[in-house]
Amino acid sequence: CGVAGVFGCKEAANLVYLSLYSLQHRGQEGAGIAVSDRDKIRYEKGQGLVADIFSADKIDALEGDMAIGHNRYSTAGESHIRNIQPFCVEINAGPVAIAHNGNIVNADEVKRQLVKNGAIFNSSSDSEVIVHLIAKSGIDNLIESIIASLRKLQGAYSLLLMTKDMLIGVRDPLGVRPLILGKLVNGYILVSETVALDLIGAEFIREIEPGEMVIISDKGIESLHPFDKKTPKPCIFEHIYFARPDSMIFGENVYDVRKRMGRMLAIQQPAEADIVVPVPDSGIIATMGYSEQSGIPLEMGLIRNHYVGRTFIEPSQSIRHFGVKIKLNPVKSVIKGKKVIVVDDSIVRGTTSRKIVKMLREAGAREIHFRVCSPPTKFPCFYGIDTPTRKELIASSHNVEEIRKFITADTLGYLDINCLEECAGGGEFCKACFNGDYPMMSLDGGGDNPKS
Ligand code: 5GP
Ligand code: SF4
Ligand code: MG
Repeated sequence: CGVAGVFGCKEAANLVYLSLYSLQHRGQEGAGIAVSDRDKIRYEKGQGLVADIFSADKIDALEGDMAIGHNRYSTAGESHIRNIQPFCVEINAGPVAIAHNGNIVNADEVKRQLVKNGAIFNSSSDSEVIVHLIAKSGIDNLIESIIASLRKLQGAYSLLLMTKDMLIGVRDPLGVRPLILGKLVNGYILVSETVALDLIGAEFIREIEPGEMVIISDKGIESLHPFDKKTPKPCIFEHIYFARPDSMIFGENVYDVRKRMGRMLAIQQPAEADIVVPVPDSGIIATMGYSEQSGIPLEMGLIRNHYVGRTFIEPSQSIRHFGVKIKLNPVKSVIKGKKVIVVDDSIVRGTTSRKIVKMLREAGAREIHFRVCSPPTKFPCFYGIDTPTRKELIASSHNVEEIRKFITADTLGYLDINCLEECAGGGEFCKACFNGDYPMMSLDGGGDNPKS
């Protein structure tokens, strides 16, 4: 998901709208904006793309100098308007709106307990437990109540909360998802990625730190560190795939990271070929690195139809298969008679890759060397990326040679797991979808994918 929040700007709803527009890649299922005029909180939500949900009239009606917004990408909870955020509720402390990127791993247990005690849930989203915990905390001070509630939760959260007169941003102690602070002329902005700052001309201040809570009000910014300190584990997959390459997250430019990964892939998984072709868009930057390192010319041998959404974000299986075909088309004059290295960011189910290989063969490729700019994806993500269940992940039950056979490539090579941190600028990262080393588990033991 993507989140954006603005404080202290007359056109708050409009700026959040534009931010969500630039964060559209983080979720395409639905979006919402809630605004505070310092008296009431009003909101507008809908299913689909940001540009289709909000009209100029709707944005104009969202008057106020504070707003938060959310792009939904379902990981937990089904695709339904009720699950679209921000969630806006009235609690003892007044109206509150909340927008959450991530996934709460112990949401089910906490929810069971809350329901037992009479809570009535409106959505099937894991994020709603946060609201209920705050509402039922019995603590008068809202900030303390939020802190006490979050201490009961495990999981990934880059969270925005808005009251009548405060904008609060929190990042979970492991800092799994990004959250960025920027300066507007008369106010502040919190966004998932720096692209949103670029679009609206906000100035980058810094990233919210793992475990940090910032409270933005007319008094300025206050920063708290209310949780036990842990070694941060930001999500490496943000760099590999999820974030936009023109963003800076976790202290590094996504573009630079992808390029370094591509260079490393060329060193680790060389192949003799005439051209190297990216799978657009997600494989492009890595392929540039591969090409530079290997000296093999890059050709845009696959063209993507940009009017089709990211297929994997669409929740229905039937649409996904359809999506691959209408999304990519080979340039026959480029491919014909060539030995081709094709580079993608990841193989998840293997079905897209198999179709790409088939397309390239039909376009006349002489050899196809498939290169993947990440390690084999063997485990599902519990922290807010929509990977399928274990059994659907081809690498959970097949070795590299078996996957090569399945996708019918001549050779197949993956990036080594041990070079990821170095490519991403150092430090520790969550790599659980590659090595199963989950930095946090629900008390239930995690089970399988939250979606299943
Ligand atoms: P596959 O070959 O596994 O069917 O599809 C691989 C493609 O899915 C890659 O191009 C990659 O960009 C995209 N992809 C990346 N991350 C994810 C994810 O988390 N889930 C799914 N389903 N697809 C993803
Ligand atoms: Fe990111 Fe993978 Fe960890 Fe999920 S499991 S947070 S996708 S690195
Ligand atoms: Mg892709």
